[in-house]
Amino acid sequence: MQTVDKYNFKGKKAFVRVDFNVPLDESFNITNDLRISAAIPTLKKILNDGGSVIIGSHLGRPKGVTEKYSLKHIQNRVSELLGVNVLFANDCIGEDADLKVAALKPGEALLLENLRFYAEEEGKPRGLAEDAPAEEVAAAKKAIKQSQKEFAKKLASYADAYVNDAFGTAHRAHASTALMAEYFAAADKMFGYLMTAEVAAVEKVLKNIEHPFTAILGGSKVSSKIDIIQNLLSKVDNLIITGGMTYTFTKAVGGKIGNSICEDDKLEVALQILEKAAEQGVRIVLAVDAKIADSFSNDANTSFCKVDEIPDGWEGLDIGPETEKIYAEVIQQSRTILWNGPTGVFEFENFTHGSRSVAEAIAEATRNGAFSLIGGGDSVACIEKFGLSKQVSYVSTGGGALLEAIEGKTLPGVAAIYQ
Ligand code: AMP
Repeated sequence: MQTVDKYNFKGKKAFVRVDFNVPLDESFNITNDLRISAAIPTLKKILNDGGSVIIGSHLGRPKGVTEKYSLKHIQNRVSELLGVNVLFANDCIGEDADLKVAALKPGEALLLENLRFYAEEEGKPRGLAEDAPAEEVAAAKKAIKQSQKEFAKKLASYADAYVNDAFGTAHRAHASTALMAEYFAAADKMFGYLMTAEVAAVEKVLKNIEHPFTAILGGSKVSSKIDIIQNLLSKVDNLIITGGMTYTFTKAVGGKIGNSICEDDKLEVALQILEKAAEQGVRIVLAVDAKIADSFSNDANTSFCKVDEIPDGWEGLDIGPETEKIYAEVIQQSRTILWNGPTGVFEFENFTHGSRSVAEAIAEATRNGAFSLIGGGDSVACIEKFGLSKQVSYVSTGGGALLEAIEGKTLPGVAAIYQ
């Protein structure tokens, strides 16, 4: 497989698909530039070789050209981080891009306008009436698939090499994340450094596992985590099911959960998971106590109680101290750790304690030699909030992409390069 390190970019133009989908405030200031800084090493390698880079990305979910989602807002920050004056093409294809790409010299970088300003990037028709007849919808879908190929081909025509460094978008079969790769020979397409690191981190928890392996899955709903739980049951030794999911499991086994979040239509699924785990010898670790509140608010009155004895009118918004101890013990005895999802409503300062204790236990296990992977927007926000990002093995830039990879799905952005 071709790699950025092996490839000599001297005199070549490289199209680098990055994920610069960064959060912006109302004045278009970047509030977190992790996704930009994460792709800088790849871009620098190409420029240092004497190549030039054409940077392609999406920002947000525009349904056409939208000022709010223009990548021009991030041009200066990319220039600062890259250390060169990055040029900007105000359309990702078309005359401005054609001229600027043609004039691009070794050592120069050109940022293209938001790829998603074209419906072709995602390959989904836009502007169809909700009640459009089925034949019209089918014809529009067929037409966009055809023009999507043309769009991918056009983008590909700008470059000699294709580099995909957009792990955050790797679960999408879009023009620039997957289709474009078809127009390059195997020797001219490759992952960037970030993508390589992300894929290696996922492989470490899915293939090259050192046991004991503990996965900590939190978050609000069982329904959104079922596939990951199912896939992990054949791999983990311990599965800590936490966060809002706790209460669906607790109710399923007969506990009293008061007003806690619960998916009543998933009680049966919860029981099946417990049964399957027992058959496979996986230890499911559930909370034994909870920090409860008399309303869903940071300022609510709080108390602690057994997780299956929550009074009516109260709801569990975080784990309690006994549970923290149990989780920490399990985590500290692990050699591989995956964390996705907080233990409670960490957005409320008064309910962050459990998530902080999990983050600290993971940091300690990592110091003792365990491999730890943190992924999914909320857990990454937690680990950053607690200042522990540097004390774990890997913090993924992918939310949906990471989860799909862990579910065992093949990511189109990965498959396009690495068959
Ligand atoms: P998810 O998007 O499914 O990963 O869930 C993350 C969300 O779950 C966060 O916004 C948390 O606030 C929320 N959450 C975690 N624990 C609880 C809980 N006990 N009750 C309600 N929401 C929760």
